[in-house]
Amino acid sequence: MSDTPLRLYNSLTRQLEEFQPLHPGEARVYTCGPTVYNYPHIGNMRAYVFADVLGRVLEWKGYTLTHVINITDVGHLTDDADAGEDKLEKMAAQRRQSIWDVARHYTDAFKADVRALNIREPSQWTVATDYVPQMIAFAQGIAEKHCYLIDSGLYFDVSTVADYGRLARASTDEGESRIDPVAGKRNPADFAIWRRTPAGETRQMEWDSPWGRGAPGWHLECSVMSGAVLGFPFDIHTGGIDHREIHHPNEIAQNQAHCCTDGLDVAENSGARFWMHNNFLVDRTGKMSKSSGEFLRLQLLIDRGYHPLAYRLMCLQAHYRSELEFSWEGLHAALTRLKRMIMAVEAVTLRHAELVSASNLPESVQRDGKRWTLNQIQGDGAGGLQGQLHTFDGAVSDDLNTAIALTSLEDVLGAKRVEPERKLSLVAAMDRVLGLDLLNLTRADLRIRPKAAQITEAEIKAALERRREARAAKDFATSDAIRDELAAQGVEVMDGDPLGWEWKLG
Ligand code: AMP
Ligand code: ZN
Repeated sequence: MSDTPLRLYNSLTRQLEEFQPLHPGEARVYTCGPTVYNYPHIGNMRAYVFADVLGRVLEWKGYTLTHVINITDVGHLTDDADAGEDKLEKMAAQRRQSIWDVARHYTDAFKADVRALNIREPSQWTVATDYVPQMIAFAQGIAEKHCYLIDSGLYFDVSTVADYGRLARASTDEGESRIDPVAGKRNPADFAIWRRTPAGETRQMEWDSPWGRGAPGWHLECSVMSGAVLGFPFDIHTGGIDHREIHHPNEIAQNQAHCCTDGLDVAENSGARFWMHNNFLVDRTGKMSKSSGEFLRLQLLIDRGYHPLAYRLMCLQAHYRSELEFSWEGLHAALTRLKRMIMAVEAVTLRHAELVSASNLPESVQRDGKRWTLNQIQGDGAGGLQGQLHTFDGAVSDDLNTAIALTSLEDVLGAKRVEPERKLSLVAAMDRVLGLDLLNLTRADLRIRPKAAQITEAEIKAALERRREARAAKDFATSDAIRDELAAQGVEVMDGDPLGWEWKLG
């Protein structure tokens, strides 16, 4: 393991703390997953880029990672604090579709975005509806001491656990004024852990329970799935900052009731040692919301010619705890930066290939970076790149400072008098943390084709080659004609482009 200790910001204690695993050599992480009633917007995906980087950093530091992300397919109401309708029931009714079809469709859409952003699959996806018996058992275990039954369901009495709401930042009054009153609740912040189906109604998703036919509450789901797979207490629980206000305080209250009712001065009593939250991606009009009609999806970025990894890079340029404002100019700048990186990698790869063929050396670069943990690189000697390696490790260890980590990766690419093989190996290792797929991405991948484009990459290359020959022969009429033909097919030839990008699809 490296010299720099890993420090992470713990929302529960409100300070940076050194990460010490609860089980030697292991890191167990739970991430609140999407509610699959609609497509994810790019703000949602920021939460999973953050969790992905966290997992990759834990591995960089030598821990074996177990990561769980759940899929919420039942129980999340239109208002986080127990009011309104079930988001999935509502969408299914609007669409006149089965709730299961709605859930499947949006789960697939979410996973497609996960892949496109090079977010690694977790060790386990847990689907809420698969855990209903465990949820009922969990609720039975805490019902007598911590819950009460009213017409609308079984409610958790937040006054029965110590330090309720310590995680939240909004003052209690502010928080409580957001909560719609429900007849019979003892405290405004009490929340349903089992919602009864109102008499005379049926729901598409409902189960029998000791408290009547109904459905589990959203907060109960995450307590049950995280505890069932990772065991309480586990190391790190993540989510977006909106979860810090209601969802996670409620999960914590249930975890306390389940494990021990002791207070939160001992963080483990909350069920997890660390609670980490990413800040929002906002647009100029404010926070993005997928329940409000129009919103930005990853597919829209792709349709406009932006590779999804340019969006990942945009996320990495900001600290996960800072608000990030989305703009097309910002995305464009991130794409240009990604292009520069890819071209620098191409140049180093070419130089390495020349050296290998000149000397008959074996091709030994570990392109996928698999073998390259920090330990091995240090053991192997970073070959003149120790400074960059040290900066990179210090940055990611400092509460995931990916912005600095990116610049040290660029410093590696730009370093003078260093063997190309060393550079490529170190870039592979660093990119295993950042996940930009730098050693596999090509210029062709980054030139996303507008849907209407007909001409192929090979045809463009052939035309450009003919144009080069014409220009070499000073036949400028032919050269111009080729440029115009390409333009007619939507290909802009980029003579004199400072990046040397040659052409793009307009
Ligand atoms: P949901 O599907 O609504 O439960 O949200 C999935 C994840 O996205 C949660 O961790 C949210 O906290 C997070 N999230 C929601 N909106 C944003 C946003 N605009 N920026 C960053 N994260 C968000
Ligand atoms: Zn959750």
